[in-house]
Amino acid sequence: MDLQNTTIIIGGGSCAKKIAFDLLEKGISVTVVSSEENAGLCLSDFPKNTPVELLTQTRIIKCRGAVGNFTVSMDLNGKLIERNISNIVLAEEDRREPNFGLYGLTPSERILSLSQVNDIINEPQRDDRIKSGFKTAFFAGLLRETDPVITGQIMLLSLDLQSRFKNQVYILTGNLKVAGDGLEALYRKTRDEGVVYIKFSNSLPSISQQEDNRALIEFYDEITAEQFKFTPDITVVDEAIVPSEYLSELTKVFKLGRDMAGFVQSDNVRRIPVYTNRKGILVAGPSRTIQTRFDHDIDAANAGLSVYGLLKDSAPVPENRAEIDRGRCVRCLTCYRLCPFIAISLDAKPFVVGEACEGCGICAAECPKTTITIKGLSGPEISDRIVRPADLGREKVFTPFIVAFCCNRSASMARDLAVNNKLDMPKGLVTVELPCAGGISLDHILHALRKGADGIMILTCHEGNCHSEKGNIYARRRADSVLDLFDQMGLERQRLVVKTIASNMAMEFSELLTKFEEQIIVLGVSKIAKTKDIGDDKTG
Ligand code: SF4
Ligand code: SF4
Repeated sequence: MDLQNTTIIIGGGSCAKKIAFDLLEKGISVTVVSSEENAGLCLSDFPKNTPVELLTQTRIIKCRGAVGNFTVSMDLNGKLIERNISNIVLAEEDRREPNFGLYGLTPSERILSLSQVNDIINEPQRDDRIKSGFKTAFFAGLLRETDPVITGQIMLLSLDLQSRFKNQVYILTGNLKVAGDGLEALYRKTRDEGVVYIKFSNSLPSISQQEDNRALIEFYDEITAEQFKFTPDITVVDEAIVPSEYLSELTKVFKLGRDMAGFVQSDNVRRIPVYTNRKGILVAGPSRTIQTRFDHDIDAANAGLSVYGLLKDSAPVPENRAEIDRGRCVRCLTCYRLCPFIAISLDAKPFVVGEACEGCGICAAECPKTTITIKGLSGPEISDRIVRPADLGREKVFTPFIVAFCCNRSASMARDLAVNNKLDMPKGLVTVELPCAGGISLDHILHALRKGADGIMILTCHEGNCHSEKGNIYARRRADSVLDLFDQMGLERQRLVVKTIASNMAMEFSELLTKFEEQIIVLGVSKIAKTKDIGDDKTG
């Protein structure tokens, strides 16, 4: 294992620092890159004589290569530099957006953001804006739901102000959610310490800013049925946690997927949390999702372990990687565009970077010239796996032959559970596992028909949960295009369906297949099966 020049960590905050320490402890050399001039860390933070490089005011501008052999180009304050490294970890800090505008308030000595109050409380000798005996009001999701991380921070600051600064704290809230992450206990503690909660469920307060810069909050109290006017000495507005703009740039440079909020894949349940769609590029803490500091530390430890694992295994080339017959390739670049793991690179023609290929089969299924092969996924290999149950067709009543193509990250597991629990299953069912349902090809479907399938079901992960990002969408699109062929062959469209399922849905697996069987019984034997010598696929 070569541990030199192995990992770039992007970020200048505590999460990046923790990852760097962790890797250094494991003997792995690191380059920490921060776009900020004053990153939250400096070289003297690290133990002496450890292989660490710290680059500040440095932005990543380009990345070539794949796991184990990335070349990263950077702009160091106007100078172009490059590093050859094995792995990359994104741990860029997130950004806080105070909701002043949302409440119609202008920041002032008396109207502060949550982060400002946090800074004041942590360095009261430098900033005396919060004085003993003040009435302090926090807005916590008053007009727009707030994240539990923010709610937790408001409660912690309230406790500090109430006990250490002898303030009377009020928390004005809309729909305060205190489930999970110890918030319930924190809520009770704040109440025990004398923090007053004012909840608005039916009507909202009117908020304005007075000449002395204090907020004027007027409201109708739903419990006492009285009108109130309240002018706290300090009003603290809540904040939204958003990804940094630089993170958005980084995801473009590294070709990484993002979630709806702009973070890097917080919501892909098919992926180990710190993994991205690219092998060798990891994401942790504030770059991954909205988290508490405690969760950042867990992510940092996971990222450290994952980097170590990747280096230890030296990114083995998977056996079932894609291979391109470059002689027949017409350079349409479909594979290059669609590979979710950025495992296809370009020179005169595309080539597969074996270490990064996950063998999903999407490129092979989409290549218009069928020049891409993957071990185990060729038409004949799939055909060999479609074996008609021996006693099928000997009964007096029609028992359909059903082929279910199952994504092995969801449907195959649901099938195993269903079988183990002895749930109902069609007698004539054969399941064929695919690494990703997105790898189903026209050829696979035709082979199933030639083998005499009366009905074909493709089972994919739920949308948004696909390990290959859009494998389930490609599977549906391909099935739709095959249906036109069904029309031309005079086959009923209902003989081919696509369904989504999760790995724990054994009951649903059983129900989907038994209902499909009933549907096929109504249609009768497939026209192609009738004309075939069943069980002998001579078409290869
Ligand atoms: S099999 Fe999947 S991961 Fe491998 S090159 Fe093709 S699309 Fe990319
Ligand atoms: S999809 Fe097929 S033909 Fe098109 S570039 Fe890729 S390998 Fe070549």
